[in-house]
Amino acid sequence: MQPFQKPLYYAGLRDIFAKRGPMGDESMHSFVKRRFGPDVAEYLIDPLVRGICAGDCREISVSFLLKELKETEMKSRSIMLSTAKKLFMKKKSEEKKSKPELARKAEHEGWSVWSLQGGLETLTDSMVDHLCNNGAEIKYDTKITSIELQGKKARIKMESWEEIETEQLISAIPAISLASLLKKSHPGVSKILQDIKCVTVGTVITTVLMRHGMTYLGGGGDSLSGSVVKTEVC
Ligand SMILES: Cc1cc2nc3c(=O)[nH]c(=O)nc-3n(C[C@H](O)[C@H](O)[C@H](O)COP(=O)(O)OP(=O)(O)OC[C@H]3O[C@@H](n4cnc5c(N)ncnc54)[C@H](O)[C@@H]3O)c2cc1C
Repeated sequence: MQPFQKPLYYAGLRDIFAKRGPMGDESMHSFVKRRFGPDVAEYLIDPLVRGICAGDCREISVSFLLKELKETEMKSRSIMLSTAKKLFMKKKSEEKKSKPELARKAEHEGWSVWSLQGGLETLTDSMVDHLCNNGAEIKYDTKITSIELQGKKARIKMESWEEIETEQLISAIPAISLASLLKKSHPGVSKILQDIKCVTVGTVITTVLMRHGMTYLGGGGDSLSGSVVKTEVC
């Protein structure tokens, strides 16, 4: 199957005979190349990582998405054999457990993709309803302009001039944004956050017309950029 040079089962065979890698960290690319061959690293993992996080698998740690596989490599010789063994054991133990009807249906009909009725936003909408019904207040479109940490309290100032004082603060804004907010009150922490690399990303979606139909190449999100993701015969 193009662009792979050999059938995919070669990758599995290679893993069975591959030697254990280094103990420490390594890139996702080097790990996959060593265990499953250069084609899997180039044509499967590279596009996958670019699609999921717009990152370069040659620079991203194996622990980002494949931590479990790296750990398996450290414990057993072959990932394929170890995974097959785990699946067999899991099936045996699951046979003993009674499953909910939906799980049984999914298994019986072989669902590989699922969604929520009304789309995935149903999930976040339900979370918002739950939080608000339990006394939480959510502020939208509100830029934080400064954070001051004083003793056990944090004073948060917003663009609207509003202020909040809190004993617990969880930040989910990018490190670079938090760095500037903490610059005055915590220059040390701010410096560490500032050193975390940050880049802007552009996504290009390419559509290529081919002889046998229309093929979409590229994309973002969970599509496999660089791989054929959909073919429609005209
Ligand atoms: C091209 C691309 C494709 C991706 N595809 C997928 C995918 O398919 N599946 C997947 O799971 N993940 C995907 N990701 C990764 C995913 O988008 C991120 O992991 C996720 O969005 C991170 O969420 P977050 O809330 O941590 O940060 P963000 O989504 O970056 O949210 C941070 C928020 O903080 C806000 N903010 C910043 N400064 C302030 C301030 N001073 N005051 C108030 N608010 C502030 C920003 O406006 C922003 O809304 C993709 C990423 C990229 C770049």
